[in-house]
Amino acid sequence: MSDVHVIDHPLIQHKLTLMRCKETSTVLFRTLLHEISMLMAYEVTRDLPTALRSIQTPLTKMDGVSIEGKKVVLFSILRAGNGMLDGMLKILPSARVGYVGMYRDHETLQPVEYYFKVPSDMEQRDVVVVDPMLATGNSAIAAVTRIKETNPRSIRFCCLVSAPEGIAAFQSAHADVPIYTPAIDSHLNENGYIVPGLGDAGDRMFGTG
Ligand code: URA
Repeated sequence: MSDVHVIDHPLIQHKLTLMRCKETSTVLFRTLLHEISMLMAYEVTRDLPTALRSIQTPLTKMDGVSIEGKKVVLFSILRAGNGMLDGMLKILPSARVGYVGMYRDHETLQPVEYYFKVPSDMEQRDVVVVDPMLATGNSAIAAVTRIKETNPRSIRFCCLVSAPEGIAAFQSAHADVPIYTPAIDSHLNENGYIVPGLGDAGDRMFGTG
């Protein structure tokens, strides 16, 4: 069973509550998502492997701590994942970026892939997959299955709001991939929306729908 890290930091919880309010404007929704993603980047990278590096300060030599290995890959599940990408890139400015395009068929609720672009040397990289809503889990499961074909060193999944159904499905498909989420909501409704949730994350951040 994969780990679920519930990120209960008060700043994140406060900002998420503002995002849930239906009166929150597109610009504020986007800004808050950006801010939360920056804070989540800090938590999701907490256990990245480190190595000592010999350096010279102005006073003496020392062994400093550095993140070990090749640059992290932020993997956005289009299109809503892009809302988390910018904030994460503020904290990890030299991260590489992968994209997987999955849309949800509104009748079957199953994911359909239309785009996949991945950085080089994936075998030596740690991946953070971002998608704000873990609802049925179908898109996240399909995206991680696809990313695993590139053999990255590790994968973490990062979302903003999750449903118990999505977590259970994701865990049974990818027991080795930890989930980072600030919120586990009550349930999914008959249309596959998270309740209480925040509505359609993509529509709210891009002003569509
Ligand atoms: N996708 C969303 O944007 N919102 C939900 O509640 C579920 C899936």
